[in-house]
Amino acid sequence: MARDQNHLPLEIQQTALLQLLTNSLVLSRTAPYLSCYDVLNLAATSRAFRYLIYQTPQVFRRLDLGNVKTAQFDVDAIDHGGETWRNVQVDENLTEDDFYSGPLRGIFYNLKRFDILRDVQVLTLDGLSVTAELIHDILIDPAFSVRILSIRDVKNLNNRKLRQALQYACRDSRPEGTPRLQGLYVFGPKEPTPGALIKEQSMSPSPTSPAAVAAAWNSKSQKALTASLAEEPEAWYERRGKQFPHRIDQEWASTLVACDGIIAFDAVLCTGPRHLNSPAWGKVNIEALNAAAASPASASIPHFQVATHSLGGCAGCGSAPEGWTTWGEDGHSRDRDTRRSSNIGKFPLLAPPPVHSSTLGAAMCPSGQSVRPHHPFANKAEKKKARFVPRCFDCIRDRYCTGCNQWWCETCYAGAGANSGPDQAHVIKSCWECGMNCKECIDTTQRMCKRCGGGYCLIHNEGSDLVACDWCVGRSRRFRELY
Ligand SMILES: [Zn+2]
Ligand SMILES: [Zn+2]
Ligand SMILES: [Zn+2]
Ligand SMILES: [Zn+2]
Ligand SMILES: [Zn+2]
Repeated sequence: MARDQNHLPLEIQQTALLQLLTNSLVLSRTAPYLSCYDVLNLAATSRAFRYLIYQTPQVFRRLDLGNVKTAQFDVDAIDHGGETWRNVQVDENLTEDDFYSGPLRGIFYNLKRFDILRDVQVLTLDGLSVTAELIHDILIDPAFSVRILSIRDVKNLNNRKLRQALQYACRDSRPEGTPRLQGLYVFGPKEPTPGALIKEQSMSPSPTSPAAVAAAWNSKSQKALTASLAEEPEAWYERRGKQFPHRIDQEWASTLVACDGIIAFDAVLCTGPRHLNSPAWGKVNIEALNAAAASPASASIPHFQVATHSLGGCAGCGSAPEGWTTWGEDGHSRDRDTRRSSNIGKFPLLAPPPVHSSTLGAAMCPSGQSVRPHHPFANKAEKKKARFVPRCFDCIRDRYCTGCNQWWCETCYAGAGANSGPDQAHVIKSCWECGMNCKECIDTTQRMCKRCGGGYCLIHNEGSDLVACDWCVGRSRRFRELY
């Protein structure tokens, strides 16, 4: 006879769960799906659980504070003397940093007290109040062992100070073995949180029945599984075109150069032949390109620039002057500093930050590929190459169709400005809002009005139909209404 496990005596439930979790593989596979709160709750249920959780380093290897309520920066809570604020020493010398990083510093203080902080290798602070000073401490303070850090969509962050902290951590005279940080997610958007904030997630553990904890775990891993199945195409390797919702400050380029080979980001430098870091630097006639440029903007291009677009092969030659960025192919070492790795800076970190591993390979590896491509058992023939061409917008301005992501490289096409008439141009701007489009895209979106002969866009001239422009369609409607 099947029996509902909730009807079993409490001691048996506890013993069964304890036996299951004593298998360290089960524990380390389950823990990443839980909040800190759930884990500490479980630890508080009995001495055995407490021992198990605090003595297994993998339990806190990955820590996501993004959905922990205490980590939220809430001015009201501070004004009313909320619990959050009590973690921080309040005095008249309070700095702006103390103020905005107060909630997180309080949590880190507690984690250090429980001796958990040093186990944390993948730390997610997405959407929280995170100051540059706090990140500086995570980079420098030996109490932290964070290897992969995510600070996407954070608040109160001074980007200039953050860039300085990163450049300082990667300076040539840095101590051996530092920084421990190897990967930083900062440019992309944070993952949408499934459902609302999980209520009452404080860092102080309170006892709950193991059955309740187990039920919560089960539903969470189910959700995580559903979410991962509904994944959209992989950034960079599969999803072509624009990669970021926001503009990236030009100043970031020199930070990526300074951190090259030491800290990887969720973006890479543009490899276009007009940049100093390009494998094709010096191989393309830049003077001719500049002379042919349609606008002054496409003639002056910075030495280094963060790539914002992922492209496939050029529509003309199928490749790019600089070649592809192909997963598994080693990067060229651009630096004589042997403490720099050639893959860090070549491949972007992929979202979300890894769940079951804290290695950089896992954070960069495209889905369906192996983390160690040269593994003897990896079947190379069967696998489709995961590759892309990373470009900044300046490098594709006159040679890229925003409609279908087709583009023409510098060797195949000088640019829209080089051609005598629109007939020879691969991309032209026929609708202001559509931007530069190729002939096929223009054929599907642009029409000539059968009544007035004017041009219109099916997407952006709202109210137009397949034969007439919005103005003529509106006029005939008004005419019918009058008579
Ligand atoms: Zn080409
Ligand atoms: Zn570029
Ligand atoms: Zn197109
Ligand atoms: Zn349009
Ligand atoms: Zn018309």
